[in-house]
Amino acid sequence: NEPITSKGQVYDTSSIRALDLSHHMHPFADQQELVSEGGVRVITRGEGVYLWDSEGERLLDGMGGLWCINIGYGRKELVEAAARQMEELPYYNTFFKTTTPVAAELAAEIASISPNGLDRIFYSNSGSEANDTNIRLARLYWTRLGRPERKAIISRHNAYHGSSIGSGSLTGFDDMHDIAGVPIADVHHAPAPFWWRDGRGQTVEEHCAWALDRLEETILHVGPENVAAFIGEPVQGAGGVLTPPPGYWQGVQEICRRYDILLICDEVICGFGRTGQWFGSQTYAIEPDIITTAKGLSSGYLPISASVFGGRVASVLMDKPGRMNHGYTCSGHPVAAAVALENIRILKRERIVERVGEEIGPYFQARLRELLDHPLVGEVRGVGLMAAVELTRDKEGRTPIEPVSSLATSVRNLCFKTGLTTRAVRDSLVFSPPLVISKDEIDWLVKRLRDNLNQFVG
Ligand code: PMP
Repeated sequence: NEPITSKGQVYDTSSIRALDLSHHMHPFADQQELVSEGGVRVITRGEGVYLWDSEGERLLDGMGGLWCINIGYGRKELVEAAARQMEELPYYNTFFKTTTPVAAELAAEIASISPNGLDRIFYSNSGSEANDTNIRLARLYWTRLGRPERKAIISRHNAYHGSSIGSGSLTGFDDMHDIAGVPIADVHHAPAPFWWRDGRGQTVEEHCAWALDRLEETILHVGPENVAAFIGEPVQGAGGVLTPPPGYWQGVQEICRRYDILLICDEVICGFGRTGQWFGSQTYAIEPDIITTAKGLSSGYLPISASVFGGRVASVLMDKPGRMNHGYTCSGHPVAAAVALENIRILKRERIVERVGEEIGPYFQARLRELLDHPLVGEVRGVGLMAAVELTRDKEGRTPIEPVSSLATSVRNLCFKTGLTTRAVRDSLVFSPPLVISKDEIDWLVKRLRDNLNQFVG
């Protein structure tokens, strides 16, 4: 194990792995599996759409970090924005009748690009915290209106909204609910459309109607008079890039209006260009009362998130007297805010969102759909620069692979070994590359994926 240098830095992979295995508890990991595999891969550098590990191997980052490196790695402008802000004022809170210029400027900037007239910003540090904020403030909204019993939140199966006690309750994965105490009371999950797996024997339209009926049924079961809000990702990301069937979101919106339920769109993945517009709610013509943003807000360079509220909620929470007892030490952190501001400037200046919508997103989707002729590919889903390639050994009957994830995980592992990051979600491989990916890089990604899939035919 020769020490390896990257930009003058010397890495000794085995000693970093040893430190990591002894002391670092990894999220969503089985520590014993990491031990048996001799530790994790050490990522040391990024540039554009590429990562390098401590052995000097290059990877094309098909996952864009964790759905977040929208403007790509290695942007000097963000480094400089952070350094300038650190020198001037590295920290101050926004609790005690104070603000910072960047926190105010960023709030105005987010307001100016947000959909549906949403223009009041509450800062947190992660998607999870922002969704906790949404739970608390949606309930506070109804309490202020004299309806404290309206506290239930309706979420969906296969939803990912975070991992804290509150947001983890909104998340709709059973395997995240096996830690005692989650979901908390008053959170309910309705089925969401997933035609490939759950709609066998139905047309897409029938499946959509079925999912909407189940949603309404859940609301009626809880009692609409007890429901504060519905929350959903415009496209369910971590659940396997589950794109909504045509008409689904209009149906959801109609149900929310019928029962006077606040509509929250979790834009943590979809926001800041991923679907080809600034927000997924624009792509699907949704008119939310609240949106959650994180990840692409700063392209992941620093942790920052924002809940964005519109007139209906703001008129109760902000335009009337009454204290809101909620917040975090780093809400509106000036360095993270400065980086987010610069990130949005770059997205605008380089017309990155427009490019995803008009050119590179359609190209990515079309190239991936060429894989449908492959014997192991059942469905390709996606919009803009997010996609899932659903693997199957039974294209007609769509029976799930046994054990679930076995094939997808093996292909994922081979991709990692051969210079491409992707993620296995059940039987699919998911992709969300940096929004600055080129056509040549997409061509390489699709070819590498096809070559790797070929290893598992037969
Ligand atoms: N909402 C969505 C839609 C997400 O995809 C995620 C993270 N993958 C979160 C919330 C949680 O964000 P965080 O990990 O920053 O807490």
